[in-house]
Amino acid sequence: MTIYPNLIIEALKNVRYPGTGKDIVSMGLVEDNIRIDGMNVTFSLLFEKPNDPFIRSVVKAAETAILTYVSPEVNIKGNITVKARQLARPEPDKLLPQVKNIIAVSSGKGGVGKSTVAANLAVALALQGYKVGLLDADIFGPSQPKMFNLEEAHPYMEEVDGRELIKPAENYGVKMLSIGFFVNKEDAVLWRGAMASNALKQLIGDANWGELDYFLIDLPPGTSDIHLTLVQTLAITGAVVVSTPQEVALADARKGISMFTGDKVNVPVLGLIENMAWFTPAELPENKYYIFGKEGCKRLAEELNVPLLGQIPIVQSICEGGDQGKPVALNPDSITGKAFQELAENVVNQIEYRNEHLAPTERVIVTKK
Ligand code: ADP
Repeated sequence: MTIYPNLIIEALKNVRYPGTGKDIVSMGLVEDNIRIDGMNVTFSLLFEKPNDPFIRSVVKAAETAILTYVSPEVNIKGNITVKARQLARPEPDKLLPQVKNIIAVSSGKGGVGKSTVAANLAVALALQGYKVGLLDADIFGPSQPKMFNLEEAHPYMEEVDGRELIKPAENYGVKMLSIGFFVNKEDAVLWRGAMASNALKQLIGDANWGELDYFLIDLPPGTSDIHLTLVQTLAITGAVVVSTPQEVALADARKGISMFTGDKVNVPVLGLIENMAWFTPAELPENKYYIFGKEGCKRLAEELNVPLLGQIPIVQSICEGGDQGKPVALNPDSITGKAFQELAENVVNQIEYRNEHLAPTERVIVTKK
């Protein structure tokens, strides 16, 4: 018997694309590249998306239709190539293949010390010997260049394996890139949605981060499209949420936590960090004044069943350290340095425990009330 392309097309008109009632020929899924060599038939099917859920079933149905309506002798199994109009997004893990753990540092509202905590946590981890990177994704107030005394840094491009990549700036053992390096402050707040998201994707995927144990992302406060983009781009290990013990801050922290645990985002919450937990004057280090209320984060953590990873006091040196570009965590023997060392240890323990004991799908422990 001789096989003609028309016979194949006619057979494929019997294959319906699930849910539409239309056949795959009239939908334009069958490419005009049918090749026949004796009983050997090859062609390709063109799907809209690379992750179309029906690819397998449509290919199978096409094979069956040809064997049924043309001849059971046709050699078609495995001969149908699948193509997609849209390019596949990089697999999350493939984007930063040399990065072991990605931590999102977030807060419900601005001004609670999220960036200060991110900078000091990064430095504390580096002091413990880990390879650390920090991406300042806070488009509303990129402050990491100042905190790392890298305001004058101008990251340049370098060639790595034939690709032009941005070389992160580096100080105190932490590799750092900030959206602030690429836009001036006045423009940054005008950045919306796609523009900011694309810039951040570049700072992640087109930068030479190299091998890292911990990659921290200083997120914008609250919830936004940027959060969504980042969780869709990267396989984030977990999020930490920074708050003060004040009621208004806690209410927003709660919202932040439910964003991470919600279906859209679904990132495990590693724990809460209470910043500005109490005020301690330098000359009276034993005295604690609970300016924003006592142990608000501790209570919220217990209520939501998430760990409290650390309590950081209000200390003048923390503020000054930020302004002078010398994070207090650089001095691990000071009271504040100790607080950040302890925080870093708790974060590492949380992650190691999770990586060891929990399957990826089980890594959400927050129970919503
Ligand atoms: P956010 O990133 O949440 O907007 P920042 O980290 O920029 O907050 O902190 C806001 C201000 O509070 C900064 O001036 C910072 O130096 C100061 N600050 C943050 N945490 C502390 C602290 N524990 N003690 C003293 N000052 C702090």
